[in-house]
Amino acid sequence: MPNAVEPPSESPTRLNAAYALLAEADAGSWRPLAGGTDMLVQIAGEIGEPPERVLDIWALDELRGISVDTDALVIGALTTYTDLRRSPLVAEHVPALAEAAATIGAAQIQNRGTLGGNVMNASPAGDTLPVLLALGAELVLGSTNGERRVNADDFWPSYRTTAARDDELLIRIRVPLVPSQQVCFRKIGTRRAQAISKVVMALAWTDSGETWSDVRLALGSVAATTVRARATEAVLEGLGPTRETADAAVEALTSELSPIDDVRSTADYRRLVAGRVLHRLIRDAGGW
Ligand SMILES: Cc1cc2nc3c(=O)[nH]c(=O)nc-3n(C[C@H](O)[C@H](O)[C@H](O)COP(=O)(O)OP(=O)(O)OC[C@H]3O[C@@H](n4cnc5c(N)ncnc54)[C@H](O)[C@@H]3O)c2cc1C
Repeated sequence: MPNAVEPPSESPTRLNAAYALLAEADAGSWRPLAGGTDMLVQIAGEIGEPPERVLDIWALDELRGISVDTDALVIGALTTYTDLRRSPLVAEHVPALAEAAATIGAAQIQNRGTLGGNVMNASPAGDTLPVLLALGAELVLGSTNGERRVNADDFWPSYRTTAARDDELLIRIRVPLVPSQQVCFRKIGTRRAQAISKVVMALAWTDSGETWSDVRLALGSVAATTVRARATEAVLEGLGPTRETADAAVEALTSELSPIDDVRSTADYRRLVAGRVLHRLIRDAGGW
């Protein structure tokens, strides 16, 4: 392992103090540190650029907590995967998020890794991102200029980038609570723990009796960013979860996706498996 040089750091305990540091002229040289499970790999020089200065945000309790607002589940950016798995509110309103959390790393990573870190790390293999994208979550960013909300559809514009400015922190995630909305999640990796996904998928829809509406299908590890499969969504829209629908959706998905070969998998495998996973999710939803 390359030698790690510890960069200078600050550990504010109030959000305003963190915003003030980020508002300095050279805000870009600060790198927020949440659980550190991605950042420590960068500090060690194994992946990506090490940070010039570290802004340790772990003590910002204002970024913790899970609650229900009138129309959304609101999750603080520092919420860990263990918090998500243990939350009765997540279990009740968005169980797919707890399911995704359960597939991430193993216990040590789940105790320390945060939902906000997964969102801001912006990896196309980030396992919670498809769930957030399928559910149309809003990412709330804060700075000395106040707060703004960015829809998940606009949050990851290109490979490993986000819509956040250098002077902003992700402070919370709002998952809209829509009556009769369902979402299911599936991750395919080499093994059940400590595996980066080869394909990860979340499928959301509103159940209108026999048929589905507002269908949103999001996938990770098949493109440079987490993506929606809009042509496949269009095929599913207004239909019910039958075998014929599943067959048509798989055909649409396999022609819509253009994954790449990389160290974790091949493009052909990803396309094939994505189709099979989608078929299974529709079959499970239809109960056939
Ligand atoms: C052994 C191992 C296994 C892993 N397995 C998985 C896996 O199965 N699936 C998966 O998706 N990921 C996995 N990861 C990656 C990592 O655990 C997750 O991405 C985790 O959610 C990162 O959260 P963190 O709090 O540790 O972020 P950090 O490492 O602290 O930060 C990650 C990035 O986000 C930025 N950041 C963090 N919080 C904020 C904020 N509130 N505002 C602005 N910027 C912020 C940081 O500056 C940094 O660029 C694994 C990592 C390891 C080391």
